[in-house]
Amino acid sequence: MAALAIAKESRQARAAIKNAIANGEATIFDAINDPRESIRRMRVIELLSAVPGVGKVRAAMIMERRNISPTRRIGGLGVHQLMSLRGELAVGKIDSQRGNLIVISGPGGVGKSTITNALRKDPRFWVSVSATTREPRAGEKDGVDYYFYTPERFQNMIDEGEFLEWADFAGNRYGTPRAPVEEWRAVGKHVILEIEIDGARQVRKSEGSAKLFFISPPDWDELVRRLTGRGTDSPERRAARLALAEQEMAAAPEFDEILVNDQVDLLLARLIPLASAPLKGQ
Ligand code: ADP
Ligand code: 5GP
Repeated sequence: MAALAIAKESRQARAAIKNAIANGEATIFDAINDPRESIRRMRVIELLSAVPGVGKVRAAMIMERRNISPTRRIGGLGVHQLMSLRGELAVGKIDSQRGNLIVISGPGGVGKSTITNALRKDPRFWVSVSATTREPRAGEKDGVDYYFYTPERFQNMIDEGEFLEWADFAGNRYGTPRAPVEEWRAVGKHVILEIEIDGARQVRKSEGSAKLFFISPPDWDELVRRLTGRGTDSPERRAARLALAEQEMAAAPEFDEILVNDQVDLLLARLIPLASAPLKGQ
């Protein structure tokens, strides 16, 4: 009975979104950013066919021209496929749906990676992958956790203006590659940058509409416990990070919102609506 009820609900959700697209009340980008599994599993062609003026035949032609498999589901579309669909369907309404730029900052050990890892599972968001000159930690993968670059390659990217922001931090360099941020925002995803304070300040200057969140620990002792608990740094490195954390805490008032990371779930419940709300001036 429960399974039947769920199946019926999924069918109704899929029918509702197709109707909304057909009536012009929604675009296929609303469906692409819908976190419900029933929508994520819809075939792209089904949605595309519902767009006014497209229909089944043109939908199939567009898919072929754009190299998208006819069986591709909404949840499996990559950024370049999304960009090309956006090009095909370019209408005013889509332009107004550019995703937000969200900065998540705060002292090391406060839980920033824990928070961004949770956001990675939410299709409304895309978490930027930074470049760094530091060595990978155990379990970190190139291209997933970071792009691990040599200092020469990093410098080259600075010279070419390929970073949205970059900073020196604890003896290494970290930077946000600009192009993917623009691409994901253009297809309506809210882009998350998990960066240190200096980078956050640069974003504040260059992107006036970005929303800056400072993640704060419940108290100092808890921050020390979290940094120690992770066990990934040597004692010297940890001492240096704690000294840095003290300076970082002082920057909290410069941010749009300060969120205390007591329990991750509660923090996410506050963060997600704030991060997805329309930005000023957009
Ligand atoms: P950051 O990315 O800010 O350096 P991490 O996400 O690596 O921090 O978190 C540091 C440690 O704190 C990890 O062991 C993580 O599991 C733990 N942690 C994160 N958030 C919480 C929380 N709300 N309560 C307890 N422990 C937490
Ligand atoms: P870690 O070495 O612990 O992964 O990161 C150290 C610090 O660098 C963290 O505060 C993290 O938020 C920050 N960081 C990671 N990527 C970037 C980036 O692209 N730009 C800036 N400015 N900081 C970053």
